[in-house]
Amino acid sequence: MSDNTKYVFVTGGVTSSLGKGIIAASLAKLLQAQGYKTTIQKLDPYINVDPGTLNPYEHGECYVTDDGAETDLDLGHYERFLNVPTSQANNVTTGRIYQSVIEKERRGEFLGKTVQVIPHITDEIKNRIQILGNSGDYDIVITEIGGTVGDIESLPYIEAVRQLKWEFGEQNAIVVHLTLIPYLSAAGELKTKPTQHSVKTLMESGVQADVLVCRTEHELSDKIKVKLARFCNVQKEAVIQSIDASTIYDVPILMLEEGLDSVVLGKLGLTSRTPDLESWNEFISRLKNPKNEITIGLIGKYVELQDSYKSILESFIHAGAANEVKVNVEAIHSEYLNKENIKLKLSHLDGVLVAPGFGERGTEGKIEAVKYVREQKIPFLGICLGMQMAVIEFARNILRLKGANSTEMESNVPYPEIDLMEQQKSVTHKGGTMRLGSWSCTLKEGSIAEKVYGKTKITERHRHRYEYNNAFKDQIEAAGMIATGLNPETGLVEIIEIEDHPWFVGVQYHPEYKSTVSSPHPLFVDFVRAAFEYSKLKNSVSMA
Ligand code: GLN
Repeated sequence: MSDNTKYVFVTGGVTSSLGKGIIAASLAKLLQAQGYKTTIQKLDPYINVDPGTLNPYEHGECYVTDDGAETDLDLGHYERFLNVPTSQANNVTTGRIYQSVIEKERRGEFLGKTVQVIPHITDEIKNRIQILGNSGDYDIVITEIGGTVGDIESLPYIEAVRQLKWEFGEQNAIVVHLTLIPYLSAAGELKTKPTQHSVKTLMESGVQADVLVCRTEHELSDKIKVKLARFCNVQKEAVIQSIDASTIYDVPILMLEEGLDSVVLGKLGLTSRTPDLESWNEFISRLKNPKNEITIGLIGKYVELQDSYKSILESFIHAGAANEVKVNVEAIHSEYLNKENIKLKLSHLDGVLVAPGFGERGTEGKIEAVKYVREQKIPFLGICLGMQMAVIEFARNILRLKGANSTEMESNVPYPEIDLMEQQKSVTHKGGTMRLGSWSCTLKEGSIAEKVYGKTKITERHRHRYEYNNAFKDQIEAAGMIATGLNPETGLVEIIEIEDHPWFVGVQYHPEYKSTVSSPHPLFVDFVRAAFEYSKLKNSVSMA
């Protein structure tokens, strides 16, 4: 252990989906705002090596870091709250732990010993927990343990926490346990029993919770806090209420009011200071007091599940606050869009975002949507697959290249406007093999992109296998769709814009991964501005 790094473990009890990620991020925010260098790490108990191979229906969006790690969406919250980039070290799964233990075994590193969950798997978990702490970059590392205590697959993690608490000693490692206090309307009462049980389950594994964060729909009375403290072996001040909030961005403020930061710092033997939350509070006040309102259509094939497009939705919240505009995002399922209903579905919108995605399902609806917004001059942002759809639509309807498509959708396509990258052709393994992570891009002077970013050199994060096919570039540009962002080394097209359109931008990368509260993404900010301009124009025309 590095001499001065302190560790906070966040576990969850009673049920999943209590928002451990938001509590961890909120605590980290409060500690950061007091001058403590803080980072957060997520340990996921499933066997996938990373979430990259998981369908969004399973686990929501896959979040990508600068170093190209495909990670849990909670890392997105960490970055959005802290404005500090995360990396591969911030997300570890059971699959990755086992993979590295098995690789060590194959290399003979265990010298003939029987390889077992304890100590080998738990040692690997402990090492991963300490990588960030040992880097010397942080005063406090918050480690969120995925899943719920009592799950079979969480046991090695809880055991690793138990061992580390002993090794680090008091004031160096504590456990914050997040639980639910359900309200039984028939009895008219909040119930503490499920929390008592989940704290006991943790104790069966030898881990005593130091702080309880209690999710609740109703205020916790003093009586309930005393009861929880008594039954769960914690101080009354360490029973923290976490009442439902109207936005996740309120949670740090609510936790501050409840004193979560000072209880944690006290237990770690660190001093509490007054947190500097001025810019955070300014953001919240802009978010809650919008002067105008717009509606953006989010066109995708996983729209029934909010978590699938988490970073996009959050980016709109940041960009809306920056513009003092409330952005209503209307989820539109691309599979059900066609020539006949497109006007009905899109004509009321002030802007349209065509979402990233994989596979053929819903792509024809996305192409139909691009055609409509291109012709109607509605502001358009296409991200990754959304940008690829814009190129295909342009080829089909402007260049009249009938049957133009991506080779992802059709292998024998007559006009492969989007094609597999050369390096991808020999790839057979699925995990971690796409074009991933941060790549640089040079912007064309005078383009919307250059105006928006205010510079000509940028880096953005990628996650895709297919690319704009440069064989068609001259023809496409001559017809008015300009490649305004290029990878300086490879010449790959990263951004397209249509000259004869007020705001039509497609990006091969994912800007949504880099939008944070203190640094809203410029593309989203300008897209929202353009959509608001368009809504004013639309209203003035309809009034005339
Ligand atoms: N399926 C496309 C590709 O692999 C787009 C990926 C994405 O939208 N993230 O290139």
